Amino acid sequence: MIILMTLFLLYPHKFEISYAEKSVVVEAERIEMQDYVPLSSLAELLGINYVLNNKTQKLTLTDASHKAVLVADINIMKFDQVYVNLPFGPKYINNEVYFPLGEVIDIIGSRFEKLIFIKEIKEVPLIKRITIYTSGDTTVLKFSWAKPIGYDVQFSLKKAIIEIDGRYKGKKKLKKTGAIKQIKVIPYNTYTRLELSLKGVNSYLQQNNRVLFYQRKKTEVRLIVIDPGHGGIDPGAVGRTGLYEKDANLSIARYLRNFIRDSLKIKVIMTRDRDVYISLKQRTSIANHNGADLFLSIHCNSTSKKRARKRGIETYFLSEARTNDERAVAARENASLKFDGIKPNDEVSFILYDLAQSTYLEESNRFAEYIQESAEKYLNIPSRGVKQAGFYVLRGAFMPAILVECAFISNPTEERLLRKKSFRKKIAYCIYRGIKRYITDYERRLNN
Ligand SMILES: [Zn+2]
Repeated sequence: MIILMTLFLLYPHKFEISYAEKSVVVEAERIEMQDYVPLSSLAELLGINYVLNNKTQKLTLTDASHKAVLVADINIMKFDQVYVNLPFGPKYINNEVYFPLGEVIDIIGSRFEKLIFIKEIKEVPLIKRITIYTSGDTTVLKFSWAKPIGYDVQFSLKKAIIEIDGRYKGKKKLKKTGAIKQIKVIPYNTYTRLELSLKGVNSYLQQNNRVLFYQRKKTEVRLIVIDPGHGGIDPGAVGRTGLYEKDANLSIARYLRNFIRDSLKIKVIMTRDRDVYISLKQRTSIANHNGADLFLSIHCNSTSKKRARKRGIETYFLSEARTNDERAVAARENASLKFDGIKPNDEVSFILYDLAQSTYLEESNRFAEYIQESAEKYLNIPSRGVKQAGFYVLRGAFMPAILVECAFISNPTEERLLRKKSFRKKIAYCIYRGIKRYITDYERRLNN
């Protein structure tokens, strides 16, 4: 269901349907990659009677010479006295019958002998105003718009690039204030790009229509975001005896959260605390929006059948993969993108130019080292060391961020271990010890 909703949000398609010099604008519902339009508006345009029985979801369309009977979710239409097969059946949504747009001309139009034209309406939302102001040690960049518009921030200490999915017709010369030393507005037809030069900024926060740049110096770790990989419709890797990676990840994450809550004075946010699907992008956003100081994603490793003997724990930070093994692990984890309707290959190349994580490259690397050192000490599975690859989930995280591949779910011995609560708890403990030691070291550096 979430997938359908996401797709729908991505495609709020509007169409203008015209007939005999009149036209109507309809908003399509996107279902299984098909645009569906409400038949009531179409019937009105064509002068066809629309009689819907909401109880049986049976729709009768009649005009002077023809009669069509349709039932929601049934791929057959009775037209006059013949039955017509429909490639996609009608759908019943919000007390209305929706019909696939692709079939409107061929099936409704031609049967009722009406010549219909359809045109997609491309609407690019408008950014009314961009304002910059300061509030204490924070510089705020604020967008004004009638309806919220999506935007993406790429950030490093000296530079930020903001791309907004809307058109901007306002002033191109904006007043520079506070930490913003220079701002370049580049308007495109369908989006707007802002290039900012920054001074003295050490973190930022995206808050609805505002981007906040902080000049406050970080001195301590206050919040960690723990990200149990996969969830919901995305099971992650599946073990030979049927253990789902998503379940093992969540269980380890919960133990880890408890260890941190009980023994460290920092806040923990979990990207998910139940079996639910969350996109890779959302996971990092949760960390950025909450101004997290550390981000840790939990996964279990897997390989092809041939290499089922591989075992052990390894920790990754975001950087270009050096080996085929590293590349394969990232590719497998990035495959979750397909649940968002993104082809992983299109995106992977961007990862290497990630401004946010490049700022934290060294710290992320260190963070990973602490986890692996701890693994050597507390676990009796092999420690495979610190690795690097292009993980989408670490992209854009403005804080030290790592991904732990806890054990190989594809290895029968380790799958058996991963089923055990005691083993999950042990892994969580090992990660917790690594985090604890890393924080002490990191805070020392922050205060120097
Ligand atoms: Zn995974």
